[in-house]
Amino acid sequence: MLENKIYKISILGPQACGKGTQAEFLSDKLKIPAISVGQILREELKKGSTVSEKIKEEMNAGGLVSNAIINLIVKKRLTQSDAAKGFIFDGFPRIRIQAKSLATLTALTHVIVIEISDAEALSRLSGRRTCSKCGKVYHLKFSPPKLADICDDDNEKLIIRTDDTPEIIHERLKIYHAETEEVIEFYEQQGIVIHVNGEQSIDAVKEEMFRKLKLNS
Ligand SMILES: [Zn+2]
Repeated sequence: MLENKIYKISILGPQACGKGTQAEFLSDKLKIPAISVGQILREELKKGSTVSEKIKEEMNAGGLVSNAIINLIVKKRLTQSDAAKGFIFDGFPRIRIQAKSLATLTALTHVIVIEISDAEALSRLSGRRTCSKCGKVYHLKFSPPKLADICDDDNEKLIIRTDDTPEIIHERLKIYHAETEEVIEFYEQQGIVIHVNGEQSIDAVKEEMFRKLKLNS
């Protein structure tokens, strides 16, 4: 039964809600790819393709990659053979115009929203420490280094990246509420949104998500 059904899923939620991890669980279960649009953009940039020249131009001009380019990249990705039986977007679409463009390419079957409060997001993100040399990421509570503020691998000092300061985290959460909640509303109108409580253990989040998708875990 599972094999016949096509799942076209998007997992959304604020930073640190665990959507990347849950996308991987679903990818393993359903044997369909988890797709990160940000990752594809970074890969295109590395390849130095024609598209990458355009991406660079736009990034230099205004900082954000245009919807036309995003749509092109997504379209290209969805035509790859592994996505023929479905896919899982990790954190995409992020803004309403992306959702509308995506609708011209394909129709999502499920949108999973992993919910955590701003306080929880702040607490998860503000505990992050990064090695100043190798870039390894630790968390004071969830994955602390063996010695305080020292990298296990190279004994270098751990730092707080500027991305992980409370001001920047607040700013990102504000943007999430303003932009992505509009996207969620867009899909609510189609009746395809599933809400999952992200403030549980990773396994409990997975179980709730699988149960609501009517999958066996
Ligand atoms: Zn290190």
